[in-house]
Amino acid sequence: MGPMSDRRKTPLHTKVFIGLVLGAVLGGLCQVLLADGSKNAGLKWVNDTLMTPVGNVFLTMIFMIVVPLLFSALVLGVAEIGTAAKVGRIGIRALVLTVVLSSIAVGIGVAGVNLVRPGDGLSPESRQELLAQIDEGEATKRGALETAPQDPPVLGIVPRNPLLEATRALSGGIMPLMFFALVFGIALSQIEAEKALPLRQLMEGLFAVSLRIIEYAMALAPLGVFALVFRTASILGVDALAAFGKYVLLVLAALAVHMFVTYPLALRFVAKRNPWQFFRQVRSVILTAFATSSSNATLPVALKVAEEEAGIPRDIANFVLTVGATANQNGTALFEGITILFLCQFFGVPMSLGDQFAVMGLSIVAGIGTAGVPGGAWPMIASIIVRFGVPGTAIGLVLGIDRILDMSRTTLNVVGDMTIAACVATMEGRPIETPEEAA
Ligand code: ASP
Repeated sequence: MGPMSDRRKTPLHTKVFIGLVLGAVLGGLCQVLLADGSKNAGLKWVNDTLMTPVGNVFLTMIFMIVVPLLFSALVLGVAEIGTAAKVGRIGIRALVLTVVLSSIAVGIGVAGVNLVRPGDGLSPESRQELLAQIDEGEATKRGALETAPQDPPVLGIVPRNPLLEATRALSGGIMPLMFFALVFGIALSQIEAEKALPLRQLMEGLFAVSLRIIEYAMALAPLGVFALVFRTASILGVDALAAFGKYVLLVLAALAVHMFVTYPLALRFVAKRNPWQFFRQVRSVILTAFATSSSNATLPVALKVAEEEAGIPRDIANFVLTVGATANQNGTALFEGITILFLCQFFGVPMSLGDQFAVMGLSIVAGIGTAGVPGGAWPMIASIIVRFGVPGTAIGLVLGIDRILDMSRTTLNVVGDMTIAACVATMEGRPIETPEEAA
């Protein structure tokens, strides 16, 4: 990730992948060789004294940054959208398209996860074992969730005291905190620019520092992922692997549907362009997003390609793509929806229809609040799953296989921005100026 990994020879994601494979193979071997590994005293000692603490240090680095990151990212994202709406029709059109496309994306993900149910099939005993191994602090938090919080937010989301919600963000207070950040961001976009400036700069600073801390956490990822995957594989064995395999395929399939059905429909009927030609024009954006796993890092290429290859007028491209890099993340919203529901299934948490709608809403908002950097989705997911009684550390189970999913969802995030820019340009009645289209 970022400058830290550039200096090293082996890229960080390769190291994380090696950690994953080693953890899975060694953990799986222990499970098989020690006949029912979950009950072996030696293995339990290794897990309790080595793997759990190492894995948890890594995860805790992510958790500790949830509140400042989520707050600053959401406030900035919403303030940008709010300012965009002030810009007038272009902003409002971009905003509407963002909400519509993100909702469709999350809808596809949630439908897929209900259809395939990748998290089922784990025996209740394995589930119990896994929960027992996840540290006691987590177990206490799960217990705490079952009892109603003091001074509860009105209707479950409007906080009386945002600071109180911030202190319990990792045990269910995330939704009220998001609500507060949304209101705060809207208000920030509506006061005089001069008065807003210092606060905006403070938020930008907070956001930048939070991103740097995620970088530190990611530097620990190879070891952390090894420890977490070893622990899981040594307890659960193959039935867990099958569940993860299904989950990965489901994410990729759902992303493909959004990329090759939803976007082409929007391009064909709203932007009135040939979708396949459009994809060809933006291919270097697709490659950059795939290679970097970062919407922010892809922005300069996206701006250039939008104007030079895709013929999107510069004023529209600059505006829509810059705001979109932070605020429009279709692929991430879809991914967050699937992952949250998958982990709930995996841990046997029943999800009512209402819960599923809550997950959809949270994923759409989380898509706006997710930082456009590699792994940006995880702090969001960690803070949302605890709301449903799944231990936050459960994200460690999936993090090891995240790189390929991150590359794929980031591609959709950026192509989504380009698609919206093309749609807005057509809606504004602006001509496309590319050699190909003109011909
Ligand atoms: N890597 C994604 C992006 O930059 C964010 C995420 O989903 O983790 O768009």
